[in-house]
Amino acid sequence: MDILYTSTRDNSKKVTASYAITKGIADDGGLFVPDKFPSLDISLEELSKLDYKGVAYEVMKLFFTDFTKEELQYCIDKAYDSKFDSKEIVPMSYVDGAFYLELFHGSTIAFKDMALSILPYLMKVSAKKNNINEDIVILTATSGDTGKAALAGFAGVEGVKIIVFYPKGGVSAIQEKQMVTQVGDNVKVVGIKGNFDDAQTGVKNIFADKAFNEELKKAGYVFSSANSINIGRLIPQVVYYAYSYANLLANGKIEEGDLINFVVPTGNFGNILAGYFAKCIGIPVGKLICASNENKVLYDFFESSVYDKNRDFILTTSPSMDILISSNFERLIYLSCGCDSKKNNELMKDLKEKGSYEVTSEMKKFIDESFIGGFASEEMVSKRIKNVYDKTGYVLDTHTAVASAVYEQYKDNTKDDTKTVIVSTASPYKFTRAVLSSIDGIDHKEDDFVLVDKLCELSGLSVPKAVNDIRDAKILHDTVCEKDAMKEEVKEFLNL
Ligand SMILES: *Cc1c(COP(=O)(O)O)cnc(C)c1O
Repeated sequence: MDILYTSTRDNSKKVTASYAITKGIADDGGLFVPDKFPSLDISLEELSKLDYKGVAYEVMKLFFTDFTKEELQYCIDKAYDSKFDSKEIVPMSYVDGAFYLELFHGSTIAFKDMALSILPYLMKVSAKKNNINEDIVILTATSGDTGKAALAGFAGVEGVKIIVFYPKGGVSAIQEKQMVTQVGDNVKVVGIKGNFDDAQTGVKNIFADKAFNEELKKAGYVFSSANSINIGRLIPQVVYYAYSYANLLANGKIEEGDLINFVVPTGNFGNILAGYFAKCIGIPVGKLICASNENKVLYDFFESSVYDKNRDFILTTSPSMDILISSNFERLIYLSCGCDSKKNNELMKDLKEKGSYEVTSEMKKFIDESFIGGFASEEMVSKRIKNVYDKTGYVLDTHTAVASAVYEQYKDNTKDDTKTVIVSTASPYKFTRAVLSSIDGIDHKEDDFVLVDKLCELSGLSVPKAVNDIRDAKILHDTVCEKDAMKEEVKEFLNL
C-alpha cells in the first residue's frame, strides 16, 4: 500500500513521504499527515523477536513507502549505532510500579536523539530522490533539546546548513552550553529575546514568506525543518512505542494483545502523537496520558474542549515543555474532524486571531477515546523526584518527573491497573540543578558542573559523555537577537 501525505490545511493535493521530508512544512502553513494509516504486517509475537533496528524497519517501511528497502536500512544502520551508550538503544527500567522507557541514551541525552539521529540521513536520501540540487537550510526553533540534537545530527553534513533559535534565559545551563559550543562550518546558534513560542512562530513565518523563499532559491538554497512538524521526525518516534510493546511481550510482562498505557511528558505534542500513530498501526495502546507542567494548555483543553493560549507563559524546571502552542496538536485536530481541512483551517484561524478555539463534541469524543490529560505543579515535580529517589535510588529528570507525578494522580483517580510505560525523555544530568535541589533540598549556588559531580556522588550514576565533553569546551556562538529579527540572522548566516 502506498502512503501519500496531505497538508492539514488542504487535502486536495498529495505528495510522497520523501517530498514531505524535504519540505518540512506544507506551503500553506499546514502539517503533512498520512492520507491513511497502514497496518503492521507482522504479528506482535514476531515483532517481539526483533531488536530496535528491526522494529524501526518494520514501522518506518509502512509510512515511508517511496524509500527502497536498501535506502531505509541504510538510514537506520547509520542512525542507531554506537552513538547510543546502550546496546539496546532504549533500555527500560521497572521502578515503583511502572516501566520507564529511557529515551536519553543518544548523543545529546534527550529523546530528540531518537529521531534526529536518523533525520539527516532520511533528508539526504529524500533530497536525492526529488532531484533537489540546492543546499538545504534547516531552520530550527528549540525549547532546549531539539537544538542540540539537530546540531549534532546535521553538523558537517554536506549540502546542509543549520540555524537554531533558542529562547535566551529559557533553557537550562547545560542545554545552553551544549548548543553554544557546537562546532562545524555549517552551523549557527542564536538566542532570541523571547520564549519558545516566539521562536517557533518566527520560524514558521520565515517558512511562509514566499518572497524570501524565492530569494533563497535564487541563491541556491531551500528551507527545511528539523522540528517535529517534519514527518521525518514524527515517524521515527513511532518506533519506540512499538518497541516498548515488543520488549514487554518478549520479557513476559504482558500477553500478546494486552493493552498498555503510556504517560508522555508533553510540550509540542510530537512525542505523544507518535504514540497515537503506533495505536493506529495496530499496537495495543490503552490510554495515552498527556502530562503537562504548569503551562497546562493541553490539560485545560482535555477538561473543557477549548484550546486557549491566552495566559502567562511560565518558566519551569522542565523548560522543554514550556510551550503554549503545541504544533502537532493540529494533526490530531485534523484527524479528529474526519480529515476535514476546511474545519481545521477555521480552528487554526481562530487560534491565530483570537488565541483560542473550541472543538465540537464529536471531535472531543474522538480525542477522548485515546487521550487523557494531567498536569503537575513545580512542587509536585520536585516532590516526585525526591520520593522516587528516596524509595528506589532511581533519579528522574524534571520532565520525566512531570509524567511520573501525573501517573500517580491518574492511578489514584481511576484505579486503572493497566501496565504502564512512563516515557522518559531526558537524562537527569541535563537538568542537574533542579534535580539535585529536589533531592537534597538545598538552593545551590555552585556552578552547574560542580553540581554534576555532586549528583554523580549522590546517585552513583556515571556522568554521560555528552556532559563531560562540554565542561571545558569553547563558546563558539554568542549571538542574541530580538524576536522579530530572526530573518536578518538567517540572511547574515547565508551571506544574502
Ligand atoms: C521535547 C521534549 C519534551 C516534549 O516533547 P514534545 O514532542 O514537544 O511534546 C519533553 N521532554 C523533553 C526532555 C524534551 O526534550
